[in-house]
Amino acid sequence: MKLLKGAEIWRDGDFERCDVLIDGAHIAAVGAGLPEEGCEVLDLAGLKILPGLVDVHVHLREPGFTAKETIATGTRAAAHGGYTTVCAMPNLSPAPDTPAHLAVELEAIRRDAVVKVLPYGCITRGQKGRGELVDFEALKADVVGFSDDGRGVQEESLMREAMRRVAPTGRPVVAHCEVEALLNGGYIHDGAYCRQHGHRGICSESEWRQVERDIRLAAETGCPYHVCHVSTGESVELVRRAKAAGLRVSCETAPHYLVLCDEDLQEEGRFKMNPPLRSRADRDALIAGLQDGTIEVIATDHAPHTAGEKSRGLAGSAMGVVGLECAFAVLNTMLVRRGVIPFGRLVEAMSLAPRRIFGLDGGEIAVGAPADLTVVDPDRPSTVDPDRFLSMGRSTPFAGMEVQGAVLMTLVDGRAAYADPMLKSEKYNL
Ligand SMILES: [Zn+2]
Repeated sequence: MKLLKGAEIWRDGDFERCDVLIDGAHIAAVGAGLPEEGCEVLDLAGLKILPGLVDVHVHLREPGFTAKETIATGTRAAAHGGYTTVCAMPNLSPAPDTPAHLAVELEAIRRDAVVKVLPYGCITRGQKGRGELVDFEALKADVVGFSDDGRGVQEESLMREAMRRVAPTGRPVVAHCEVEALLNGGYIHDGAYCRQHGHRGICSESEWRQVERDIRLAAETGCPYHVCHVSTGESVELVRRAKAAGLRVSCETAPHYLVLCDEDLQEEGRFKMNPPLRSRADRDALIAGLQDGTIEVIATDHAPHTAGEKSRGLAGSAMGVVGLECAFAVLNTMLVRRGVIPFGRLVEAMSLAPRRIFGLDGGEIAVGAPADLTVVDPDRPSTVDPDRFLSMGRSTPFAGMEVQGAVLMTLVDGRAAYADPMLKSEKYNL
């Protein structure tokens, strides 16, 4: 049995000083002054314990693209960032579009994952965003939802049929919204920076047009619907109205869209992702959406690539940045400490809301719950240093940022999936 002693734990929307006793994979007792006898005691005085963080949007790249990331490295990065559960996007090879293809991914997860990994199944065969739909019934037991992330489902009739068939599975359709006909070879936001520097732009409409269409289809079919990485003010407003109309519609955004905008762009691959960093007005609309609960979830869209793939500037680099290992510190620094949102809103967006929307267990630090816990020091200063990442991907627009807030330990089913070297001292007995 492990006794986590002296920390403040997150309970019912606030911190409370409490010990936590862990027996195997579960929480066995919570209370002040629990007896130490027969326990491995971890003195966590001065630290805080959160319900384990959940990232519903990560790219672990295995099977198929292990030069970018593997289940082993990606889940170690997740643990380093405080995540106890991540949901893995299906742009893999083979893509999880049949039970046999999904089995390849599940086997790698069973073999190498140090945090809980819940895969998405594809919407279309080969994850092409067009063509033939997968057999949703055959996949539903082993997936957290259905997504063609990386691509939008282009045809309205195909998306309608997908939602019709997914609705009875109880899983959500999780959509990367992008109208390919509106892209015109763009790769950064079609705004002032783009024009001044002679780049090709991605218009906001390419995102929100498809959000608008899908919300209409979700209303028509009753399918639970979640929008990936919302980046435009228009998308936020569409989701706001859908929620007001009582639809089962939710959305996520990523730390970079909340903290940065196209005014922050530099001519480096680490500023390139899809959707792109939008305008300042879009960023402010996203923040307002986070504040009023329209945006319930913050997901990182952790998307590692090799150093070579990210070294070709804005025009030539691959789309995608890593996010797992600095999201908590960046958001704590830029949103909580600056008074944009209260700390509780961050816990909601990074742990409780994803659990609620995706039907995951845990989230309460209570007797009988799985011991999925994140130990943090919200005041500890550091610098975002990609060289210290456990991910194989190093490309982040937050490199070099001074931040406060550190993840010191991540417990998954009672096991330490990550522990900061500081905790491995005698005092902490780890
Ligand atoms: Zn995407």
